[in-house]
Amino acid sequence: MTALLGAFFWFVLFLVLAMALLYKRAPLWLFTACMLAELASCWLFAPSSRLITAVLAIPLAILVLLNIRPLRVGLITRPFLKTYIKLLPSMSSTEREALEAGTVWWDGELFTGGPDWPKLMQAKAPALSAEERAFLDGPCETLCGMIDDWDITHQRGDLPPEVWQYLKTQGFFAMIIPKQYGGLGFSAYAHSCVLVKVASRSTTASSTIAVPNSLGPAELLLHYGTQEQKDHYLPRLARGEEVPCFALTGPRAGSDAASLPDTGVICKGQWQGREVIGIRLNFSKRYITLAPVATVIGLAFRLFDPEHLMSEREDLGITCALIPRDTPGISIGRRHFPINIPFQNGPIVGHDVFVPVDFIIGGFRMAGQGWRMLVEQLSVGRCISLPSNATGGSKAATYASGAYTRIRRQFNAPVGRFEGVEQVLARMAGRTYIMDAARSVTAGAIDGGEKPSVPSAMLKYHITEFGRMVANDAMDVHGGKGICLGPNNYLARGYQSIPVAITVEGANILTRSLIIFGQGAVRCHPFVLKEMNAARDADREKGVREFDRALFGHIGFTLSNAVRSMVMAMTFARFTSVPEQGPAKRYFQHINRYSASFAFATDVAMLTLGGYLKKKESLSARLGDVLSSMYLASMVLKHHQNQGSPPEDLPLVEWACRSLIYQAQEQLHSFLRNFPIRPMAALMRLFIFPRGLTYFAPSDRLGRAVVDLIMTPGVTRERLCEYIYRTREAHNPLGLLEEALELSLQAEPLEKRVRVEGVKTGKVTALDFPGQIEQALAAGILDEREAEQLRDYDAKVMHLVQVDDFAQHELGTRA
Ligand SMILES: Cc1cc2nc3c(=O)[nH]c(=O)nc-3n(C[C@H](O)[C@H](O)[C@H](O)COP(=O)(O)OP(=O)(O)OC[C@H]3O[C@@H](n4cnc5c(N)ncnc54)[C@H](O)[C@@H]3O)c2cc1C
Repeated sequence: MTALLGAFFWFVLFLVLAMALLYKRAPLWLFTACMLAELASCWLFAPSSRLITAVLAIPLAILVLLNIRPLRVGLITRPFLKTYIKLLPSMSSTEREALEAGTVWWDGELFTGGPDWPKLMQAKAPALSAEERAFLDGPCETLCGMIDDWDITHQRGDLPPEVWQYLKTQGFFAMIIPKQYGGLGFSAYAHSCVLVKVASRSTTASSTIAVPNSLGPAELLLHYGTQEQKDHYLPRLARGEEVPCFALTGPRAGSDAASLPDTGVICKGQWQGREVIGIRLNFSKRYITLAPVATVIGLAFRLFDPEHLMSEREDLGITCALIPRDTPGISIGRRHFPINIPFQNGPIVGHDVFVPVDFIIGGFRMAGQGWRMLVEQLSVGRCISLPSNATGGSKAATYASGAYTRIRRQFNAPVGRFEGVEQVLARMAGRTYIMDAARSVTAGAIDGGEKPSVPSAMLKYHITEFGRMVANDAMDVHGGKGICLGPNNYLARGYQSIPVAITVEGANILTRSLIIFGQGAVRCHPFVLKEMNAARDADREKGVREFDRALFGHIGFTLSNAVRSMVMAMTFARFTSVPEQGPAKRYFQHINRYSASFAFATDVAMLTLGGYLKKKESLSARLGDVLSSMYLASMVLKHHQNQGSPPEDLPLVEWACRSLIYQAQEQLHSFLRNFPIRPMAALMRLFIFPRGLTYFAPSDRLGRAVVDLIMTPGVTRERLCEYIYRTREAHNPLGLLEEALELSLQAEPLEKRVRVEGVKTGKVTALDFPGQIEQALAAGILDEREAEQLRDYDAKVMHLVQVDDFAQHELGTRA
């Protein structure tokens, strides 16, 4: 019995030591040495437990042999590499370059199973320069004041000429163009803040501004254009003399844009009276934003050189060129009507359009580089345009809803005080906080030199989805006020515009299912790309050496993450180190835990499903959700720190982190529930959820604390909705709502007095509120000043609660 206990003790000791070494990511030699030392101690000091040493001798012998590199390369690495190469899908150099485009930033840390928090927390907080701030307070403010969204969306179907002119002359289309070319040369953060502000006023205007500053001619010229092209186009774009659009999508190539059938054939032709080598283009594009008014078209097409006038190759691949609008053969000008948000958008068709070869962006040396150029630039633009627009819309919706649900009373109480509405308001505020955190911290990273390609997909998908949820919720809490269109409706156009954000720059279902995890797993994983590159290395011996290093690093990494996941799940990660000791500490620790679990699940999925994982979109989508939840929660923590860690914002931080980490848990759980190899799923569950599902969504009490912050005027409400257009002027509902909200603080106690001392005692019998005020005044319940205060407040509330009505002829479009 004692011998058995002794053996058990030594076995447990082995296990604990092995787990501790794996947890700490000890190198193979150290792990082997420690195990051998433990084995020797057992042999020497516990003769009755030698059974254990006998059992462990064989695995330890294998471990020792693995330390002898030539042996391990010959026996394991080479044979494995042969199979690996056969399984590896073939990839063109363009595809590889596209996959490797952009940089790996915080997304890479989350793949490690132990994120390096100081790297994130010590990064500089994004800030506006004096000039950028002046632009927001000056031209941007003026623009918002000029906008009448009802006129734009219903009566005119376009921005008015003076707004177009203002946008062009004030540089709204030139935020990303450097000053040397006459542009504004704004930081990514400032660019994002401008879009937030304009989007809080009009989606038509913000979409119009977003496009020239996003992926399009200016961005492509800046990075790949020849000096001549830059000198010609950039100053003209900056002055608004040229309006750009970028045409990639066509009827046959939507999400699978790389399959575009549009062709450019290199041939000789006439250009301005002389024969030149050029490109004959035939194309059909649709959905192109700004096309109807564009003067210069950025065009993506597939370039061929059948006569070998410029190249040995016939099929040169996807190429981007700049084509002037008035080039013969182009049909342009008709408009699509995108969901009642009448920004300029339409088809472009080209028949035998001939342009010189040097119209290719970057000249002929960039022929065939179009896809790489687009993917590279997408990593920046996708972090800014749509996330900022969605954030601006959500900030405005949350700001409005917080005030509206306080001034709108039903059942003798502000509707926002009913638990059902409170729950909706809490998630609106929490999600808006997440959106703002993600867009601003990521923009700050771009300003620090990053081109975060995987976060750009995460932001595109999650921020626009959050935008959709916030817009839906805002409509619900406004009731009929949100539904009836007209000049008094400040919500419905934003709500209508949501599918545009969901669809463009990579439709959301595709982005979630294919891109976030698919690109992340290759790009951010510490070993996968190294293994792939080593396997493709033309120098076979070098490739084998590098593959061996990556492979064994990868195996150790997976085992380590398994142990880390289990230990942190058992201990709720309480002992992991974090950069802050305050109330947010636990959220850092939970992210540590899920990072290890995610890294482990990723490796097991890739190892067991291989290429099949790409087809199992719902599995990779769920892993993408886990990654995104951790990313967004990290952004929330950093954003709070960037804002000076204000304690009054903590309910928002807690709501945001709790809901995101809960989402990570649930998606990991669903991943395991649907993993096709069931024994492997059971094994993973043991390491990931050894104590079951232990994390909970935000409580109602936390939700209530969040709602208080947006239903009461104060610093948190202002900070959450920073940069939106909330100037107090007659035609700005956000400003008027804020004014009414402030008045409600004094009005509510008076209303209560009228109810308690008047209505309940029978002294006040009128059914309508104005009548009640007068009776309360007559009964001495209110004095004249108080009655006037209530009259004024009631008039302002009724003005805000009003909806529009129309004569029949005002609504129909037929004369
Ligand atoms: C208002 C508007 C403005 C636009 N502006 C421009 C512009 O300026 N320039 C430009 O070039 N293009 C522009 N686009 C095009 C836009 O980028 C495409 O609409 C988008 O890429 C999707 O293509 P599609 O509409 O043909 O959808 P489809 O490709 O037909 O997709 C339909 C659905 O299938 C899903 N799907 C497709 N493949 C997969 C997959 N493998 N896995 C999972 N789901 C998948 C998609 O997510 C989508 O939900 C614009 C579109 C709109 C509507």
